Amino acid sequence: MLDLLRRVVQEVNGAADFYEALSIIVTRVKGALDIDVCSIYLKSPRSERLVLMASEGLRQESVGQVEMEVSEGLVGLVASRAEPINLENASEHPRFRYFPETGEERFLSFLGVPIIQQRKLLGVLVVQHHKARRFDNEHVSFLITLAAQLSGAITHAEFTDEIASETPMVSHVNVEAIGVAGAPGVAIGRAVVAYRLADLDSIPDREAPGVEEELARFAMAVNATREEIEGLKARTQALLPAEEGALFDAYLLLLGDSLVHRTETRIRTGQWAPGALRDTVRESVRVFEDMEDAYLRERGADIRDLGRRILSHLLPAEDAEGDFPEGGILVGEDLTASHLAEVPIERLGAIVSARGSGSSHIAILARALNVPAVMGVSDLPVSRLEDRELLVDGYRGRLYVNPGPELRAEFMRLVREERELEDGLRTLALQPAATRDGRPVPVMANSGLLADIRPSLQSGAEGVGLYRTEVPFIIRDRFPGEEEQVEIYRQILASFDPMPVTLRTLDVGGDKALPYFPVREDNPFLGWRGIRITLDHPEIFLPQLRAMLKASVEHHNLQILFPMISTLEELKESLILLNRAREELLDEGLPVPMPKVGVMIEVPAAVYIVEALARRVDFLSIGTNDLVQYLLAVDRNNARVANLYDTLHPSSIRALELIAEGARRTGKPVSVCGEMAADPAAIILLLGMGMDSLSVSVSAIPRVKWVIRSFTTDRAEALLAQCRLLENPEQIRSLLNNALVQAGLGGLVRAGKN
Ligand code: PEP
Ligand code: MG
Repeated sequence: MLDLLRRVVQEVNGAADFYEALSIIVTRVKGALDIDVCSIYLKSPRSERLVLMASEGLRQESVGQVEMEVSEGLVGLVASRAEPINLENASEHPRFRYFPETGEERFLSFLGVPIIQQRKLLGVLVVQHHKARRFDNEHVSFLITLAAQLSGAITHAEFTDEIASETPMVSHVNVEAIGVAGAPGVAIGRAVVAYRLADLDSIPDREAPGVEEELARFAMAVNATREEIEGLKARTQALLPAEEGALFDAYLLLLGDSLVHRTETRIRTGQWAPGALRDTVRESVRVFEDMEDAYLRERGADIRDLGRRILSHLLPAEDAEGDFPEGGILVGEDLTASHLAEVPIERLGAIVSARGSGSSHIAILARALNVPAVMGVSDLPVSRLEDRELLVDGYRGRLYVNPGPELRAEFMRLVREERELEDGLRTLALQPAATRDGRPVPVMANSGLLADIRPSLQSGAEGVGLYRTEVPFIIRDRFPGEEEQVEIYRQILASFDPMPVTLRTLDVGGDKALPYFPVREDNPFLGWRGIRITLDHPEIFLPQLRAMLKASVEHHNLQILFPMISTLEELKESLILLNRAREELLDEGLPVPMPKVGVMIEVPAAVYIVEALARRVDFLSIGTNDLVQYLLAVDRNNARVANLYDTLHPSSIRALELIAEGARRTGKPVSVCGEMAADPAAIILLLGMGMDSLSVSVSAIPRVKWVIRSFTTDRAEALLAQCRLLENPEQIRSLLNNALVQAGLGGLVRAGKN
């Protein structure tokens, strides 16, 4: 059964289109179980009715014709109850409704299971048998398991179909894909799909500039591949037994055969060679994977390998940057910082990634560059998006494909308003950040790139509240040496001197992996990350501390911040190492001053020992991104639970108050450097709690200043007191949004989570 399940899901995932996916499901299920009918009913997004979309066993004329309300028939009952219904004789059930066009009067037994994805009913999977019998437990379990696994594949196939339809019908306009907010802002532009070399699945659809040239290019790639295989065969002949050597003959046979012809046929329809090859390979792989014989099934892998080889000869001729259009939207399966290096940033309109989240690196970079980003759009059929017009809403994490005129006009208005807001805010940049009653609440920059320095200064940052040193570590292919680090840190200290610059020690692990220092764990966020790694590796930690201190010899504005502290012991050990690094440098004759030292409060354990921590350092910095994920037990990178990640949860507000109270009792300043500090509604609460400074992405600085300058401390405290009485984040947000509107900041409300 497991094997069957795996194969069905795999085949559905590889289906060329939505209808093929449905047909695979009904054919395979009917073929594998002892049943007479397998059908799929799906809920139409427009009419909300259940429509028979595919069947093996019912009359084919009824497919697409039979429809019912969720309140009708047995299929409707499965849908409305959201649980399986197993009947020996369906016609005796009071909810039975007979559709003559299906010819289902012959079938007595009925088993229906709902297909649900993230609480949303997609449809119902039904099996029937002509004999009156209850389906046994094994059948029920199999169908439930299959339906649960298929929901993602069905959504994906449905989405692909909607956007790829040649003749978009009304329903194919404004196709919405849901992800998570990566970087704020809205954008309209054409998709440019980033593909990974030699990865067939990441190849986008693209029109070939000329069919004849494309055919010639493909022929050359095939020839080059043939020569390569012949060369491999010759080289390995003496080493391999004859049967293994025969593998190369099989490859050569496949090359001379239909793989080439079918790809050429596809190229003749206008598709570029890599796209045509991708489809042919997928088709062939499916044929092999369908085979009962395990040996033959494995041959699918050979075809894939062959496809990759041909692809590698096709792609180098392509310019990786391509003709990136003005305002182009970079789309990819799993975009990384290195993809960004390949595109002309000045022309980049937005970023969309099928994986990742708001705290993925590319999202952090997007915020620094002021480019909207949507992450974790898991239903996204990336390869189908090339050159399509996309609307990106980086505030809400939404993407719209094939926009209709009304939605496009609405987005144009939003883009215009954003621009006006930005222009208006620019004048605020150099004004001090103080509440209306004159309490200064400096706004600093979160950074991790040297490229951020100029924009940070221009945006009116009053220092750097968080410099994520892991960024220079991640974009290299080895640990940067001490001197390399000194150079980076010195530049940033010099640029902001005399304003404070807070360098955070290396915080890798969790979702931030170093390519050259892989850490594999079942629970990376609860594992070896941040200070836990650096304390275990003094040979990495000490050179970093030394580099920071050396950089501060000429500039006395250094502050050092330790991440992920969860015990007092970790802080004490970190301080010992910092003192040791300083002693070493003093011994070497360098007059390094003692910097201010801070600790990040981003683990719930630290909240409850905040006073003990605060007594031993100069300042506290609250990392709300992690603190909220740990408090609410919601992975900050998981799009499935992104709706539960709410910084305005009463628990997170209470935790922040505890930290602020602890800091006040010890007389130590406290800053907030997580994304929450850039959320206009949340800022009011942070002001009410008495936070001393905020640190946010460069692009958010002017708006944060605007909020600070619009409220008095008394008003913020009063609003905080009102929020304490509310029980859920939605009520809290709505109260604060109203306060923003009343204060004349309605333009910022959309930027909040809604
Ligand atoms: C945080 O956790 O809030 C934080 C600022 O650190 P990072 O996002 O780099 O984990
Ligand atoms: Mg953190």
